[in-house]
Amino acid sequence: MPDFPCLSCGACCAAFRVDFHCSDLATAEHPGVPLKLTVPLTATLVRMRGTDDAPPRCIALEGRIGQEVRCAIYAERPGPCRDFAPYAPLGIGDDACDRARRRHGLSPLAL
Ligand code: SF4
Ligand code: SF4
Repeated sequence: MPDFPCLSCGACCAAFRVDFHCSDLATAEHPGVPLKLTVPLTATLVRMRGTDDAPPRCIALEGRIGQEVRCAIYAERPGPCRDFAPYAPLGIGDDACDRARRRHGLSPLAL
């Protein structure tokens, strides 16, 4: 069983604003992000609650950053979360992943 580094990190969920289109919200027709976990931005955009707090931390993030974390809405997480550092689960970071990890005192992923 591979050791997925994101499960012992979570830094990006407590580093950046997470804004996304309303089409990622849950509706009667399809699952998605619960509206109550977001704040409205514009007529078509919402933001994950907590991600513009100081310090930021997404309301859906559970656990302790750098130790053990989980996204409470992982299966329904919004687009930006699905797209972020796509190879990080394999141990391959990128600039944004490195930046988030540094903010939380974590070293960049190996590759
Ligand atoms: S993508 Fe990078 S910053 Fe985000 S949880 Fe995974 S290792 Fe941490
Ligand atoms: S929705 Fe989940 S993956 Fe996205 S920032 Fe929040 S805790 Fe992280």
